[in-house]
Amino acid sequence: MRFGDVYSQEFINKLNEFTGGHPITAEAEIPGNEVYVDIHQIAELMGVTISQLGDEDANLSGKLISKHEIGINHREAPVRQRFTVAHELGHILNGEHVANRQTDSSTYTITEKRNEVVANSFGAMLLMPQKLVRRYVKEYFDQHSNVEKNNLSPQEFENLIAEVAMQLNVSQQALKNRMSNLNMYRKVSE
Ligand SMILES: [Zn+2]
Repeated sequence: MRFGDVYSQEFINKLNEFTGGHPITAEAEIPGNEVYVDIHQIAELMGVTISQLGDEDANLSGKLISKHEIGINHREAPVRQRFTVAHELGHILNGEHVANRQTDSSTYTITEKRNEVVANSFGAMLLMPQKLVRRYVKEYFDQHSNVEKNNLSPQEFENLIAEVAMQLNVSQQALKNRMSNLNMYRKVSE
């Protein structure tokens, strides 16, 4: 899987703002495995170290310690940790140097809320590239020819989400949000 296979050139340029002497090209292979985005390897490519948060930060999912270091809460589910890494990388690319990812978002200021939206949207684009999402959804329908693409039952929809989320190694909720933002589905009432 090459960068150019799943990301736009514009997005690759954005990643390159932080890789220093190691520019990412569209032809370069994405390090890690061939199925989902290995976010830890991407962080490494961006010169960002990932460390484990201590007990005093047990209420945080993650924390931007500096623009070269991210702290992650290892008590959380692996899919959540992966999203947190992607999210914190978003803060770095947004020019922030310090940020906390709190489990309770109600205490954020307006600026923090705006930065959270930017970081979440970047994290989703990084972990769930549109092309990869569309590829796995297409494969799902190819393999389940009995499922009507434009008329899924609620159960069929959940099955699709579960399978594609597993392939992308993301949470089902994160995938639903991403697919909704990509206008890939719409609920219809009877
Ligand atoms: Zn954040």
